Amino acid sequence: MRILIISDIHANLTALETVLDAVGDIDAVWCLGDLVGYGPDPNECISRIRVLPNLVCLMGNHDAAALNLIDTASFNPEARRAIHWTQDALTRASMKFLRDLPEKFRFEAVTISHGSPRHPVWEYLLDAHTAFMNFEYFDTDYCFVGHTHLPVIFSLRDGSNNVALNVPQPGTKRQLISRTIINPGSVGQPRDRDPRASYAIFDPLDQTWEYNRVSYDVQAVQARMTALGLPQRHVQRLAAGW
Ligand code: ZN
Repeated sequence: MRILIISDIHANLTALETVLDAVGDIDAVWCLGDLVGYGPDPNECISRIRVLPNLVCLMGNHDAAALNLIDTASFNPEARRAIHWTQDALTRASMKFLRDLPEKFRFEAVTISHGSPRHPVWEYLLDAHTAFMNFEYFDTDYCFVGHTHLPVIFSLRDGSNNVALNVPQPGTKRQLISRTIINPGSVGQPRDRDPRASYAIFDPLDQTWEYNRVSYDVQAVQARMTALGLPQRHVQRLAAGW
C-alpha cells in the first residue's frame, strides 16, 4: 500500500503535477496543509487535489488566513500581500473546500497535523527540543507534519528523553521505528536550498518511509507569478529553494 504524503503545495500547480507524475499509482493521498498562499494557482491546486484517491487534506495557517479565520497581522508584509491576492482569486467552491478541512487526523498508527500535534495550525517543529515536547500530544506511533518546509525526522529514543534529529537523503527508504515525528518537506516552496519539489511515500503495512525530490519547471511558475503581480521575493526564492 502506498500513501503519498505531501505538504505545503502553496498554489504551485506545476510542482504538484510533477510530483503526481513522478509517483505513479498511489492508494491514498495525505496532504498536510497550506494548499494556498504564495503561489499563482490556488483554485487549480484545489481542483487537482480534491479528485485524488482517498484524500485526507488538512488546514494550514495560510489556508486559514485565506479564509480570514486568523489575523493576517502576524504574517510579514509580502506574505500578507500574497494572502490578500489569494483571497481575491479564490472561487466560492475553493473557499468551501478549504473551510471544511480538519486541523488534525488520525489513521491507525499515524496522527497528522500541519504544524505540530500540540498546536496543529501554528507551531513550527524546527529543533529536537520542541519536537520532544510534542511527543506527549499524540499517542500513535508516528506523527506526520509540514509547515516548516524542511524535510526532517525526529525520533524519540526508547526509554530516554532524547530526541534525534535526522535530515533524510532524497531517494532513500527507511523502516520507521516508533515513535517518530516526520516532515516530508514542501511541494511548492522548499526552504532547504534544494528547489526541487519534496514528497514521501508511506507504506502503513511495511511501515516504511520513502523520501524523494523531483525537479519541476520553476521558471514557468515564476512567469505566472510575475504576470499576476505577486511579490518578487516569493518569485525569486523558488529558484534557490529558500
Ligand atoms: Zn507553508
